[in-house]
Amino acid sequence: MTEKAVIVGAGMVGLATAYRLARDGLDVTVVDTGRSGAGASTRNAGWIVPVMSTPVPAPGMLGKALRWMARKDSPLHIRPSLRPDHVRFIASMLRHCNSRDYQHGIEALVALNERTVSLFDGYQQDGVRFEYHRTGHLLVFRTRDAMHAHRADFVPMERIGHTAVPLSGDEARDLEPALGPYVQAGLQCTQERHVDPATLIEGLEQRCRKLGVRFLHGRHVTSIRSEGALTTSVLAGDEEIGGDLFVLAAGVHSGALSRLAGFPLPIQPGKGYGFDDTSGSVKLRHSVYLGEAKVAITPLSGRLRFAGTMEFGSSDSTVAPHRVRGIIRSAGEYLPDFPPAPQQHAWTGLRPMTPDGLPVIGPLPGKENVFVASGHGMLGVTLAPMTAEIIAAQVKIAAQVKGEERDADIATMARPFSPQRFARRGHGKRSADH
Ligand SMILES: Cc1cc2nc3c(=O)[nH]c(=O)nc-3n(C[C@H](O)[C@H](O)[C@H](O)COP(=O)(O)OP(=O)(O)OC[C@H]3O[C@@H](n4cnc5c(N)ncnc54)[C@H](O)[C@@H]3O)c2cc1C
Repeated sequence: MTEKAVIVGAGMVGLATAYRLARDGLDVTVVDTGRSGAGASTRNAGWIVPVMSTPVPAPGMLGKALRWMARKDSPLHIRPSLRPDHVRFIASMLRHCNSRDYQHGIEALVALNERTVSLFDGYQQDGVRFEYHRTGHLLVFRTRDAMHAHRADFVPMERIGHTAVPLSGDEARDLEPALGPYVQAGLQCTQERHVDPATLIEGLEQRCRKLGVRFLHGRHVTSIRSEGALTTSVLAGDEEIGGDLFVLAAGVHSGALSRLAGFPLPIQPGKGYGFDDTSGSVKLRHSVYLGEAKVAITPLSGRLRFAGTMEFGSSDSTVAPHRVRGIIRSAGEYLPDFPPAPQQHAWTGLRPMTPDGLPVIGPLPGKENVFVASGHGMLGVTLAPMTAEIIAAQVKIAAQVKGEERDADIATMARPFSPQRFARRGHGKRSADH
Protein backbone atom coordinates (compact mmCIF):
# COMPACT_ATOMS: atom_id res chain seq x y z
CA MET A 1 0.00 0.00 0.00
CA THR A 2 1.29 3.48 -0.88
CA GLU A 3 2.05 5.61 2.16
CA LYS A 4 0.07 8.80 2.40
CA ALA A 5 2.13 11.87 3.37
CA VAL A 6 0.54 15.12 4.49
CA ILE A 7 2.75 18.21 4.36
CA VAL A 8 1.63 21.32 6.23
CA GLY A 9 3.06 24.39 4.49
CA ALA A 10 3.57 25.12 0.80
CA GLY A 11 6.66 27.27 1.14
CA MET A 12 10.03 26.40 -0.36
CA VAL A 13 10.68 23.74 2.29
CA GLY A 14 7.23 22.11 2.06
CA LEU A 15 7.27 22.04 -1.74
CA ALA A 16 10.83 20.67 -1.95
CA THR A 17 9.76 17.93 0.48
CA ALA A 18 6.55 17.19 -1.44
CA TYR A 19 8.53 16.90 -4.66
CA ARG A 20 11.10 14.56 -3.09
CA LEU A 21 8.54 12.30 -1.39
CA ALA A 22 6.39 12.15 -4.54
CA ARG A 23 9.46 11.04 -6.51
CA ASP A 24 9.87 8.24 -3.96
CA GLY A 25 6.35 7.11 -4.85
CA LEU A 26 4.46 8.42 -1.83
CA ASP A 27 0.91 9.72 -2.14
CA VAL A 28 1.44 13.37 -1.14
CA THR A 29 -1.00 16.09 -0.06
CA VAL A 30 0.15 19.64 0.66
CA VAL A 31 -2.04 21.81 2.90
CA ASP A 32 -1.58 25.57 3.19
CA THR A 33 -3.47 28.46 4.76
CA GLY A 34 -3.06 30.43 1.54
CA ARG A 35 -1.51 29.73 -1.82
CA SER A 36 1.97 28.25 -2.37
CA GLY A 37 4.74 30.69 -1.46
CA ALA A 38 2.46 32.95 0.58
CA GLY A 39 4.97 32.98 3.47
CA ALA A 40 8.64 33.93 3.27
CA SER A 41 9.41 31.83 0.23
CA THR A 42 8.59 34.44 -2.40
CA ARG A 43 9.74 37.35 -0.20
CA ASN A 44 13.47 36.81 -0.21
CA ALA A 45 16.66 37.50 -2.13
CA GLY A 46 16.69 34.13 -3.90
CA TRP A 47 20.35 33.39 -3.17
CA ILE A 48 21.68 29.85 -3.21
CA VAL A 49 24.75 30.43 -1.09
CA PRO A 50 26.43 27.45 0.57
CA VAL A 51 29.39 29.81 1.12
CA MET A 52 27.21 31.58 3.70
CA SER A 53 26.88 28.48 5.89
CA THR A 54 27.09 30.50 9.09
CA PRO A 55 24.54 30.55 11.96
CA VAL A 56 22.96 33.92 12.81
CA PRO A 57 23.98 33.81 16.52
CA ALA A 58 27.65 34.73 16.27
CA PRO A 59 30.29 36.00 18.69
CA GLY A 60 29.90 39.77 18.98
CA MET A 61 26.25 39.81 17.91
CA LEU A 62 25.03 41.12 21.27
CA GLY A 63 27.39 44.11 21.09
CA LYS A 64 26.22 44.93 17.58
CA ALA A 65 22.55 44.60 18.54
CA LEU A 66 23.04 46.94 21.52
CA ARG A 67 24.95 49.51 19.45
CA TRP A 68 22.26 49.45 16.79
CA MET A 69 19.36 49.51 19.29
CA ALA A 70 19.10 53.31 19.10
CA ARG A 71 19.27 53.47 15.28
CA LYS A 72 15.88 53.17 13.63
CA ASP A 73 17.30 52.08 10.26
CA SER A 74 19.82 49.52 11.56
CA PRO A 75 20.23 46.14 9.80
CA LEU A 76 19.73 44.21 13.07
CA HIS A 77 17.09 45.10 15.61
CA ILE A 78 15.82 43.34 18.73
CA ARG A 79 12.50 44.86 19.76
CA PRO A 80 12.14 45.25 23.50
CA SER A 81 9.25 42.99 24.55
CA LEU A 82 8.30 41.14 27.71
CA ARG A 83 6.47 38.34 25.88
CA PRO A 84 7.81 35.21 27.62
CA ASP A 85 8.49 33.25 24.38
CA HIS A 86 10.38 36.26 22.95
CA VAL A 87 12.42 36.79 26.12
CA ARG A 88 13.30 33.07 26.34
CA PHE A 89 14.23 32.98 22.66
CA ILE A 90 16.50 36.03 22.79
CA ALA A 91 18.16 34.84 26.00
CA SER A 92 18.79 31.46 24.45
CA MET A 93 20.07 32.96 21.19
CA LEU A 94 22.48 35.19 23.08
CA ARG A 95 23.82 32.13 24.94
CA HIS A 96 24.69 30.67 21.53
CA CYS A 97 26.72 33.75 20.54
CA ASN A 98 30.02 32.11 21.43
CA SER A 99 32.75 30.76 19.19
CA ARG A 100 32.25 27.11 20.20
CA ASP A 101 28.58 27.01 19.19
CA TYR A 102 29.30 29.17 16.15
CA GLN A 103 31.99 26.81 14.84
CA HIS A 104 29.81 23.78 15.62
CA GLY A 105 27.01 25.45 13.61
CA ILE A 106 29.30 26.20 10.67
CA GLU A 107 30.51 22.59 10.51
CA ALA A 108 26.93 21.29 10.57
CA LEU A 109 25.74 23.74 7.89
CA VAL A 110 28.74 23.08 5.63
CA ALA A 111 27.97 19.35 5.68
CA LEU A 112 24.31 20.11 4.98
CA ASN A 113 25.24 22.25 1.98
CA GLU A 114 27.62 19.87 0.27
CA ARG A 115 25.07 18.77 -2.36
CA THR A 116 22.99 21.95 -2.51
CA VAL A 117 24.10 23.19 -5.93
CA SER A 118 23.87 19.76 -7.57
CA LEU A 119 20.35 19.31 -6.16
CA PHE A 120 19.26 22.62 -7.71
CA ASP A 121 20.87 21.61 -11.01
CA GLY A 122 18.93 18.35 -10.67
CA TYR A 123 15.67 20.29 -10.36
CA GLN A 124 16.35 21.91 -13.70
CA GLN A 125 17.33 18.63 -15.33
CA ASP A 126 14.11 17.06 -14.06
CA GLY A 127 11.96 19.73 -15.68
CA VAL A 128 11.28 22.10 -12.78
CA ARG A 129 11.03 25.43 -14.62
CA PHE A 130 12.41 28.51 -12.85
CA GLU A 131 14.61 31.55 -13.39
CA TYR A 132 18.08 30.28 -12.47
CA HIS A 133 21.34 32.27 -12.63
CA ARG A 134 24.85 30.82 -12.43
CA THR A 135 26.71 34.14 -12.54
CA GLY A 136 28.13 33.82 -9.01
CA HIS A 137 28.13 35.98 -5.93
CA LEU A 138 30.11 39.05 -4.91
CA LEU A 139 30.56 40.43 -1.40
CA VAL A 140 31.79 44.02 -1.19
CA PHE A 141 33.20 45.98 1.73
CA ARG A 142 34.27 49.47 2.75
CA THR A 143 37.46 48.15 4.34
CA ARG A 144 39.92 45.32 3.74
CA ASP A 145 39.63 44.40 7.43
CA ALA A 146 35.91 43.71 7.07
CA MET A 147 36.64 41.58 4.00
CA HIS A 148 39.29 39.55 5.85
CA ALA A 149 36.98 38.98 8.82
CA HIS A 150 34.34 37.57 6.48
CA ARG A 151 36.86 35.50 4.60
CA ALA A 152 38.05 33.81 7.79
CA ASP A 153 34.50 32.51 8.31
CA PHE A 154 34.38 31.08 4.80
CA VAL A 155 37.45 28.81 5.07
CA PRO A 156 35.45 25.65 6.04
CA MET A 157 33.27 26.09 2.91
CA GLU A 158 36.33 25.46 0.71
CA ARG A 159 36.06 21.78 1.67
CA ILE A 160 32.79 21.56 -0.26
CA GLY A 161 34.12 23.53 -3.23
CA HIS A 162 32.72 26.95 -2.32
CA THR A 163 35.62 29.38 -2.30
CA ALA A 164 35.75 33.11 -1.65
CA VAL A 165 38.53 34.85 -3.62
CA PRO A 166 39.72 38.22 -2.19
CA LEU A 167 39.52 41.23 -4.50
CA SER A 168 40.69 44.83 -4.31
CA GLY A 169 38.11 47.58 -4.73
CA ASP A 170 39.18 48.05 -8.38
CA GLU A 171 38.90 44.32 -9.08
CA ALA A 172 35.39 44.35 -7.63
CA ARG A 173 34.54 47.34 -9.87
CA ASP A 174 35.95 45.47 -12.91
CA LEU A 175 33.35 42.79 -12.23
CA GLU A 176 30.57 45.25 -11.39
CA PRO A 177 31.23 48.75 -12.78
CA ALA A 178 28.17 50.14 -10.95
CA LEU A 179 30.07 49.93 -7.63
CA GLY A 180 31.43 53.27 -6.44
CA PRO A 181 34.71 54.33 -4.76
CA TYR A 182 33.22 53.50 -1.34
CA VAL A 183 34.05 49.85 -2.09
CA GLN A 184 37.61 49.02 -1.02
CA ALA A 185 37.56 45.21 -1.09
CA GLY A 186 35.52 42.25 -2.22
CA LEU A 187 35.11 38.49 -2.19
CA GLN A 188 34.15 36.63 -5.33
CA CYS A 189 32.30 33.31 -4.99
CA THR A 190 31.90 31.74 -8.40
CA GLN A 191 29.99 28.61 -7.30
CA GLU A 192 26.99 30.42 -5.87
CA ARG A 193 23.68 30.75 -7.72
CA HIS A 194 20.52 32.76 -7.51
CA VAL A 195 16.90 32.28 -8.50
CA ASP A 196 13.74 34.27 -8.84
CA PRO A 197 12.03 32.70 -5.81
CA ALA A 198 8.49 33.21 -7.14
CA THR A 199 9.31 31.27 -10.32
CA LEU A 200 10.89 28.48 -8.27
CA ILE A 201 7.76 28.13 -6.12
CA GLU A 202 5.58 28.05 -9.21
CA GLY A 203 7.90 25.63 -11.01
CA LEU A 204 8.00 23.26 -8.05
CA GLU A 205 4.23 23.33 -7.64
CA GLN A 206 3.72 22.56 -11.34
CA ARG A 207 6.24 19.69 -11.23
CA CYS A 208 4.66 18.34 -8.02
CA ARG A 209 1.22 18.36 -9.66
CA LYS A 210 2.62 16.35 -12.57
CA LEU A 211 3.94 13.84 -10.03
CA GLY A 212 0.40 13.55 -8.60
CA VAL A 213 0.77 15.77 -5.52
CA ARG A 214 -2.59 17.15 -4.32
CA PHE A 215 -2.75 20.77 -3.11
CA LEU A 216 -5.28 21.92 -0.51
CA HIS A 217 -4.89 25.69 -0.58
CA GLY A 218 -6.86 27.96 1.74
CA ARG A 219 -6.86 25.40 4.58
CA HIS A 220 -5.42 26.57 7.92
CA VAL A 221 -4.43 23.64 10.13
CA THR A 222 -5.78 24.27 13.62
CA SER A 223 -5.47 20.91 15.27
CA ILE A 224 -3.50 17.66 15.11
CA ARG A 225 -5.24 14.41 16.01
CA SER A 226 -3.20 11.54 17.48
CA GLU A 227 -3.74 8.13 19.05
CA GLY A 228 -0.88 7.79 21.48
CA ALA A 229 2.42 8.17 19.60
CA LEU A 230 0.74 7.88 16.22
CA THR A 231 -0.73 10.95 14.53
CA THR A 232 -3.74 10.12 12.37
CA SER A 233 -4.88 13.42 10.87
CA VAL A 234 -4.68 17.19 10.84
CA LEU A 235 -7.77 19.36 11.03
CA ALA A 236 -8.30 22.47 8.95
CA GLY A 237 -11.51 23.91 10.35
CA ASP A 238 -13.91 20.97 10.27
CA GLU A 239 -12.08 19.25 7.42
CA GLU A 240 -10.07 16.21 8.53
CA ILE A 241 -7.03 15.29 6.44
CA GLY A 242 -5.77 11.82 7.27
CA GLY A 243 -2.35 10.34 6.51
CA ASP A 244 0.33 7.82 7.45
CA LEU A 245 2.99 10.45 8.01
CA PHE A 246 3.02 14.22 8.51
CA VAL A 247 5.62 16.90 7.80
CA LEU A 248 5.38 20.25 9.60
CA ALA A 249 6.90 22.79 7.20
CA ALA A 250 4.90 25.84 8.21
CA GLY A 251 7.74 28.38 8.44
CA VAL A 252 7.35 30.76 11.39
CA HIS A 253 4.17 28.91 12.40
CA SER A 254 5.95 25.59 12.86
CA GLY A 255 6.47 26.34 16.55
CA ALA A 256 2.71 26.68 17.12
CA LEU A 257 2.04 23.52 15.10
CA SER A 258 4.65 21.50 16.93
CA ARG A 259 2.98 22.62 20.17
CA LEU A 260 -0.31 21.18 18.86
CA ALA A 261 1.58 17.92 18.28
CA GLY A 262 2.81 17.95 21.87
CA PHE A 263 6.41 19.19 21.50
CA PRO A 264 6.71 22.98 21.25
CA LEU A 265 9.71 24.13 19.24
CA PRO A 266 11.31 27.56 19.78
CA ILE A 267 10.81 29.01 16.29
CA GLN A 268 10.39 32.79 16.17
CA PRO A 269 10.14 35.26 13.28
CA GLY A 270 13.11 37.28 12.06
CA LYS A 271 11.48 39.99 9.98
CA GLY A 272 13.15 41.12 6.77
CA TYR A 273 12.35 43.83 4.23
CA GLY A 274 12.70 44.11 0.51
CA PHE A 275 11.64 45.88 -2.66
CA ASP A 276 12.19 45.52 -6.39
CA ASP A 277 13.73 48.37 -8.37
CA THR A 278 12.69 48.47 -12.01
CA SER A 279 14.25 51.85 -12.84
CA GLY A 280 17.20 50.22 -14.62
CA SER A 281 19.54 52.91 -13.26
CA VAL A 282 21.93 50.28 -11.88
CA LYS A 283 22.91 47.09 -13.70
CA LEU A 284 24.49 44.11 -11.93
CA ARG A 285 25.39 40.59 -13.12
CA HIS A 286 26.22 38.95 -9.78
CA SER A 287 24.14 38.73 -6.67
CA VAL A 288 25.86 41.30 -4.45
CA TYR A 289 26.14 41.53 -0.66
CA LEU A 290 26.89 44.97 0.80
CA GLY A 291 29.05 43.74 3.67
CA GLU A 292 28.79 46.46 6.34
CA ALA A 293 25.18 47.37 5.49
CA LYS A 294 24.08 43.69 5.35
CA VAL A 295 21.99 44.35 2.25
CA ALA A 296 21.39 41.70 -0.43
CA ILE A 297 20.95 42.70 -4.06
CA THR A 298 19.76 40.23 -6.69
CA PRO A 299 19.64 40.89 -10.42
CA LEU A 300 16.45 39.30 -11.74
CA SER A 301 14.74 39.49 -15.08
CA GLY A 302 13.79 43.17 -15.57
CA ARG A 303 14.57 44.28 -12.02
CA LEU A 304 16.99 44.45 -9.12
CA ARG A 305 15.76 43.01 -5.85
CA PHE A 306 17.00 44.61 -2.62
CA ALA A 307 16.56 42.79 0.71
CA GLY A 308 17.84 43.18 4.23
CA THR A 309 17.16 43.81 7.94
CA MET A 310 16.76 41.26 10.71
CA GLU A 311 14.18 42.34 13.23
CA PHE A 312 13.33 40.11 16.21
CA GLY A 313 10.12 40.55 18.17
CA SER A 314 7.89 41.52 15.26
CA SER A 315 5.51 38.99 13.79
CA ASP A 316 3.26 41.02 11.50
CA SER A 317 3.79 42.04 7.90
CA THR A 318 3.61 45.83 8.34
CA VAL A 319 6.27 47.85 6.55
CA ALA A 320 8.18 50.34 8.76
CA PRO A 321 9.28 53.04 6.26
CA HIS A 322 12.47 53.86 8.20
CA ARG A 323 13.73 50.28 7.70
CA VAL A 324 13.21 50.56 3.94
CA ARG A 325 14.94 53.94 3.98
CA GLY A 326 17.88 52.29 5.77
CA ILE A 327 18.29 49.82 2.89
CA ILE A 328 17.97 52.58 0.27
CA ARG A 329 20.47 54.83 2.05
CA SER A 330 23.14 52.15 2.35
CA ALA A 331 22.60 50.95 -1.23
CA GLY A 332 23.26 54.50 -2.43
CA GLU A 333 26.62 54.53 -0.62
CA TYR A 334 27.90 51.49 -2.50
CA LEU A 335 26.06 52.20 -5.78
CA PRO A 336 26.27 55.93 -6.58
CA ASP A 337 23.75 55.72 -9.45
CA PHE A 338 21.08 54.08 -7.31
CA PRO A 339 18.07 56.37 -7.16
CA PRO A 340 17.22 57.57 -3.66
CA ALA A 341 13.50 57.84 -4.51
CA PRO A 342 11.17 56.19 -2.00
CA GLN A 343 10.21 52.70 -3.08
CA GLN A 344 6.50 52.20 -3.57
CA HIS A 345 6.22 48.46 -3.24
CA ALA A 346 8.29 47.44 -0.24
CA TRP A 347 7.39 44.10 1.33
CA THR A 348 8.32 42.15 4.43
CA GLY A 349 9.03 38.46 5.00
CA LEU A 350 9.24 36.44 8.21
CA ARG A 351 12.24 34.12 8.44
CA PRO A 352 11.72 31.10 10.70
CA MET A 353 14.54 31.52 13.23
CA THR A 354 15.87 29.15 15.91
CA PRO A 355 17.92 30.18 18.95
CA ASP A 356 21.00 28.22 17.83
CA GLY A 357 20.76 29.32 14.20
CA LEU A 358 20.34 25.78 12.85
CA PRO A 359 17.27 24.41 11.10
CA VAL A 360 15.04 21.84 12.75
CA ILE A 361 14.82 18.73 10.58
CA GLY A 362 13.68 15.30 11.69
CA PRO A 363 11.18 13.27 13.69
CA LEU A 364 9.27 15.10 16.41
CA PRO A 365 10.01 13.55 19.82
CA GLY A 366 7.05 11.58 21.17
CA LYS A 367 5.46 11.08 17.76
CA GLU A 368 6.33 8.15 15.50
CA ASN A 369 5.13 9.64 12.24
CA VAL A 370 5.51 13.44 12.52
CA PHE A 371 8.55 15.12 10.99
CA VAL A 372 9.59 18.76 11.23
CA ALA A 373 11.27 20.72 8.42
CA SER A 374 11.61 24.33 9.50
CA GLY A 375 13.70 26.99 11.22
CA HIS A 376 15.96 27.63 8.21
CA GLY A 377 16.37 31.31 9.05
CA MET A 378 18.28 33.20 6.35
CA LEU A 379 18.96 30.07 4.29
CA GLY A 380 15.57 28.48 3.62
CA VAL A 381 15.82 28.61 -0.17
CA THR A 382 19.40 27.32 -0.16
CA LEU A 383 18.74 24.48 2.27
CA ALA A 384 15.29 23.31 1.12
CA PRO A 385 16.40 20.59 -1.35
CA MET A 386 18.81 18.99 1.14
CA THR A 387 16.19 19.23 3.89
CA ALA A 388 13.89 17.24 1.63
CA GLU A 389 16.63 14.62 1.13
CA ILE A 390 16.91 14.24 4.91
CA ILE A 391 13.16 13.90 5.41
CA ALA A 392 12.98 11.31 2.58
CA ALA A 393 15.82 9.28 4.16
CA GLN A 394 14.28 9.48 7.64
CA VAL A 395 10.84 8.49 6.36
CA LYS A 396 12.38 5.35 4.83
CA ILE A 397 14.29 4.57 8.01
CA ALA A 398 11.14 5.06 10.14
CA ALA A 399 9.11 2.79 7.84
CA GLN A 400 11.98 0.27 7.79
CA VAL A 401 11.94 0.42 4.02
CA LYS A 402 15.21 -0.60 2.44
CA GLY A 403 16.62 2.63 1.03
CA GLU A 404 19.91 3.56 -0.56
CA GLU A 405 23.14 3.17 1.39
CA ARG A 406 23.35 6.96 1.32
CA ASP A 407 20.22 7.24 3.53
CA ALA A 408 22.15 6.12 6.63
CA ASP A 409 24.88 8.71 5.93
CA ILE A 410 22.26 11.40 5.47
CA ALA A 411 20.64 10.47 8.79
CA THR A 412 24.03 10.77 10.53
CA MET A 413 24.76 14.12 8.93
CA ALA A 414 21.31 15.34 10.04
CA ARG A 415 21.90 14.74 13.78
CA PRO A 416 22.75 18.38 14.67
CA PHE A 417 19.38 19.45 13.26
CA SER A 418 17.25 17.02 15.26
CA PRO A 419 14.24 18.53 17.11
CA GLN A 420 15.42 16.40 20.03
CA ARG A 421 18.01 19.07 20.88
CA PHE A 422 15.18 21.20 22.24
CA ALA A 423 14.03 18.49 24.64
CA ARG A 424 15.75 20.14 27.59
CA ARG A 425 14.91 23.48 29.12
CA GLY A 426 16.94 26.39 27.80
CA HIS A 427 16.31 26.07 24.06
CA GLY A 428 19.04 23.73 23.01
CA LYS A 429 21.27 21.05 24.38
CA ARG A 430 24.54 22.80 23.60
CA SER A 431 23.60 25.95 25.47
CA ALA A 432 22.13 23.94 28.33
CA ASP A 433 25.47 22.15 28.58
CA HIS A 434 27.38 25.34 29.19
C1 LIG B 1 14.21 39.53 3.30
C2 LIG B 1 14.55 38.06 3.22
C3 LIG B 1 15.58 37.64 2.38
C4 LIG B 1 15.91 36.28 2.32
N1 LIG B 1 16.88 35.87 1.42
C5 LIG B 1 17.19 34.56 1.32
C6 LIG B 1 18.13 34.11 0.35
O1 LIG B 1 18.65 34.89 -0.43
N2 LIG B 1 18.45 32.78 0.32
C7 LIG B 1 17.90 31.89 1.19
O2 LIG B 1 18.28 30.72 1.13
N3 LIG B 1 16.94 32.27 2.08
C8 LIG B 1 16.57 33.58 2.16
N4 LIG B 1 15.63 33.99 3.06
C9 LIG B 1 15.04 33.00 3.97
C10 LIG B 1 13.95 32.19 3.29
O3 LIG B 1 13.05 33.04 2.61
C11 LIG B 1 13.18 31.38 4.34
O4 LIG B 1 14.06 30.67 5.18
C12 LIG B 1 12.28 30.35 3.66
O5 LIG B 1 11.44 30.99 2.72
C13 LIG B 1 11.43 29.58 4.66
O6 LIG B 1 10.65 28.69 3.91
P1 LIG B 1 9.54 27.79 4.61
O7 LIG B 1 8.97 26.93 3.57
O8 LIG B 1 10.13 27.15 5.83
O9 LIG B 1 8.47 28.85 5.18
P2 LIG B 1 7.41 29.76 4.43
O10 LIG B 1 7.84 30.14 3.08
O11 LIG B 1 7.07 30.87 5.35
O12 LIG B 1 6.17 28.79 4.22
C14 LIG B 1 5.38 28.34 5.28
C15 LIG B 1 3.98 28.09 4.74
O13 LIG B 1 3.21 27.46 5.77
C16 LIG B 1 1.91 27.95 5.71
N5 LIG B 1 1.30 27.76 7.03
C17 LIG B 1 1.67 28.30 8.21
N6 LIG B 1 0.86 27.86 9.20
C18 LIG B 1 -0.03 27.02 8.65
C19 LIG B 1 -1.11 26.26 9.16
N7 LIG B 1 -1.42 26.26 10.48
N8 LIG B 1 -1.86 25.53 8.30
C20 LIG B 1 -1.55 25.49 6.98
N9 LIG B 1 -0.51 26.19 6.44
C21 LIG B 1 0.22 26.94 7.27
C22 LIG B 1 2.07 29.41 5.32
O14 LIG B 1 0.88 29.92 4.72
C23 LIG B 1 3.25 29.35 4.35
O15 LIG B 1 2.83 29.27 3.00
C24 LIG B 1 15.24 35.33 3.13
C25 LIG B 1 14.19 35.75 3.95
C26 LIG B 1 13.84 37.10 3.99
C27 LIG B 1 12.67 37.52 4.84
